[in-house]
Amino acid sequence: MLVNSKQLLLDAKKSGYAIPSTNIFNLNSLRGVLRAAEENRSPLIVSLAEVHTKSLSIEEAASIVKYYANKIDLPIVLHFDHGFTPSLVKEAIDSGFTSVMIDGSSLPFDENVEKTKEIVALAHEKNITVEAEIGHVGGGESYINPEYDHSQLTTVEEAKRFAELTNVDSLAVSIGTAHGAYKGTPKIDFKRLSQINQEVNIPLVLHGGSGSGDENLQKAVELGICKVNIFTDLTVAAHDKLVDNFKDMNYYDACLLAEEGIKECLLKYYSIFKTKRGM
Ligand SMILES: [Zn+2]
Repeated sequence: MLVNSKQLLLDAKKSGYAIPSTNIFNLNSLRGVLRAAEENRSPLIVSLAEVHTKSLSIEEAASIVKYYANKIDLPIVLHFDHGFTPSLVKEAIDSGFTSVMIDGSSLPFDENVEKTKEIVALAHEKNITVEAEIGHVGGGESYINPEYDHSQLTTVEEAKRFAELTNVDSLAVSIGTAHGAYKGTPKIDFKRLSQINQEVNIPLVLHGGSGSGDENLQKAVELGICKVNIFTDLTVAAHDKLVDNFKDMNYYDACLLAEEGIKECLLKYYSIFKTKRGM
């Protein structure tokens, strides 16, 4: 069933696990992650990022995710990821998304607060949960223009003030991860995470989960991360499945094999995040 992320993330916080948020961009990627959720009997946050709406529109995602979520006896969240453009976030809210992220993390603190508050007011009226970001998770190595997208670590004080001022439901923090693929393994500021978790009452979110290292991710979850975003590793898993076989394979079989790779990758992350299972 389709639900918002409020109770799911609060339960994850209370019980010490994280829920994966997987970016989908076509039918095979959606089927792959949903098959993993069903196999594990675990909740799932299905995300459409604003930057992926060229491949799958808000309307298309709303329609197909609702179709599957209604058939599956598990809590499924339909989340709009990295909404930079307020009109598109509003479109997601009106289309039936149950959760949205408003990303004002590149803006000055006060502007981020104002932009977030506006979306919180609209979304909460419709029982839709809202995530925002304070500090800024930038792009990793081999990401688009990483030199123009540097990370800025979240400070404890800003996170606390931001959560109080905006009444947002969950907060993405910047503690050393980055979007895209890494060269090597990132150095995560666990001390900072632990301090933020002590001062901020709402569930914390980690972006740039892909390639962060299994132990790093486990530790981040132990220290209070309740939602981890995974995109790059899903596409890498799909790609790896195809690399050895593609020459002798038709496109139909390739799509199904990619779906299998995505499913296997998410099963691995469910285990790393210790996501509640057997639901
Ligand atoms: Zn992100």
